[in-house]
Amino acid sequence: MEKKQRQFALWYFIAAFWLVLGIHEFLIARHTETLLYSDFKVLLKASKVEDLSLGERIISGRLKREGLEGLLSKEKVEEIQRLADGEHRFVTIRVSDPTLIQELEASKVRFAGEVESTWFITLLSWVLPALIFVGVWAFLMKRVGGPASGLMAIGKSKAKVYMEKETGVTFADVAGIDEARTELMEIVEFLKTPERYRRLGGKIPKGALIVGAPGTGKTLLAKAVAGEAGVPFFSMSGSEFVEMFVGVGAARVRDLFAQAQEKAPCIIFIDELDALGKARGLNPMGGHDEREQTLNQLLVEMDGFDTNKGVIILAATNRPEILDPALLRPGRFDRHIALDRPDIRGREKILQVHAKPVKLSPEVDLSVIAARTPGFVGADLANLVNEAALLAARKGKDAVEMADFDEAIDRIVGGLEKKTRVMNPAEKETVAYHEAGHALVAESRPRADRVSKISIIPRGVAALGYTQQLPTEDRYLLKRADLLDRLDVLLGGRVAEELVFGDVSTGAQDDLQRATDMARLMVTQYGMSEHLGLATFEEPRASAFLNISKPQGVREYSEQTAQAIDEEIRKLLDDAHTRVEQTLAARRGELDALGKLLLEKEVVDREALTQLLQPQKS
Ligand code: ADP
Ligand code: ZN
Repeated sequence: MEKKQRQFALWYFIAAFWLVLGIHEFLIARHTETLLYSDFKVLLKASKVEDLSLGERIISGRLKREGLEGLLSKEKVEEIQRLADGEHRFVTIRVSDPTLIQELEASKVRFAGEVESTWFITLLSWVLPALIFVGVWAFLMKRVGGPASGLMAIGKSKAKVYMEKETGVTFADVAGIDEARTELMEIVEFLKTPERYRRLGGKIPKGALIVGAPGTGKTLLAKAVAGEAGVPFFSMSGSEFVEMFVGVGAARVRDLFAQAQEKAPCIIFIDELDALGKARGLNPMGGHDEREQTLNQLLVEMDGFDTNKGVIILAATNRPEILDPALLRPGRFDRHIALDRPDIRGREKILQVHAKPVKLSPEVDLSVIAARTPGFVGADLANLVNEAALLAARKGKDAVEMADFDEAIDRIVGGLEKKTRVMNPAEKETVAYHEAGHALVAESRPRADRVSKISIIPRGVAALGYTQQLPTEDRYLLKRADLLDRLDVLLGGRVAEELVFGDVSTGAQDDLQRATDMARLMVTQYGMSEHLGLATFEEPRASAFLNISKPQGVREYSEQTAQAIDEEIRKLLDDAHTRVEQTLAARRGELDALGKLLLEKEVVDREALTQLLQPQKS
């Protein structure tokens, strides 16, 4: 896209260049012959000059029409006679020639002096082209930057703010967001009855950040907040703030807040916050002044305005980890609302929302469709219902049937497989037992963190499922036994696959990587290996990056030590593998039960997990 744009621009410049050349040719060269000074003198002596004017640097004038032949070369004469208006104008560069005036008098030619006869030519040959270039440039700016950023709009900023008086969206339109809803309810209440909160002097949060994958309903949720509260909704996308000209983005931010404050109470929604709020200094190509200025302006505005006026900022991103920490500080986007990909029940509810206006045949069971669409987000499901309705309409049916949904699912899955992950049933089974293995090992190890949630809903490209553990307390020091237990949990997934399927998959790659890293740290950094003792062997990683003077990869130990380190790491991992195998083999029944439960429910929380597990003696 960008490349095409640039080529396009290049063509405009080439065209402008030719145009300028053409004008020069037409206005100046076509009517005038440039003569050598010697030729001019020859013509002067032969009285072929009608009249002339003497400039400081140029002599210009008219030649007589007849009798030029023989005086100049044949080509020159032809050129002169070809001159457009038949006036036979000429110019020649004036050289130092003290007797010129006498010769002019002698040949009785009419002549006049001229202070600067070339101003018109200068005007034509310089100012006009310059004007044309500026014109082309302005035209291009306008095309590239959209209508708001033409030449005249610099600094004025007609921000593309979309204002909706009434979004018409309510929480009923957003399904499967029960957790987010409670958090946002508070904001709604505040917008509805600000006095109630102000009375007690409480501070309302300025903003909340909605985090979730594309299509999980972040925009919809923000609109629902505005709709529930009945306040105007200002929306703008982070990428729209960042413009070509430095300063425009910042002006837009100012504009946005000024407009919003006039209409308070209201909601400002900034989509794609990451486009503008990327951590400063993250750009490898050096600074991006425009983005930085815009971000700074946003921070200034957020700090400056008074929440009591009733302006609340919601922002959405799917990459919170790259945001500038300044944005996440207290008083800014310090509240985070996570929108996960919906689980099977969430998907069913979302399908219900979107199927409401659609005529369904009675045999259609939305829960079956929900079961067939793991990994789908709200937008995919909305698309699915629509697609099915279109398919049914095309076939002339009176109602949408299950077969239409099946066909639509196949289509959408085909498209999604390229973009994100959609699992087939066999993959889903592998992931279920893998995660069950992690969870079961974690629950078998007293020093490991408790499992709070297990999910086999794919998250992005890398993680197909996850087991979430929450620490029971803050820990700053880890003992060797703690680390060994963590190692066991990391290997739990892989070992479960071995036990259940007698085969292993690539899904454990990340676990193994982390387990190996941990074992390496134990051996080389923490002095936790029996064999190698207390010595540490490598620079801590962080400083290895900063320390430029030292070439990377330089080891401070011998080849034998390297071998010993590798052996120790392997031993740690092998021992862990044996321990985990014993644990899972002993609890095989629970492993199978948990795997099955996961396949069915996709998400298992702590409560369901403890119900399933038998009490352990240890
Ligand atoms: P995001 O902003 O997270 O990319 P959107 O809010 O734009 O996603 O969602 C796109 C569309 O997907 C919505 O307009 C809506 O039709 C549908 N959608 C997404 N999530 C949900 C949900 N939880 N409930 C109902 N519809 C949803
Ligand atoms: Zn794993």
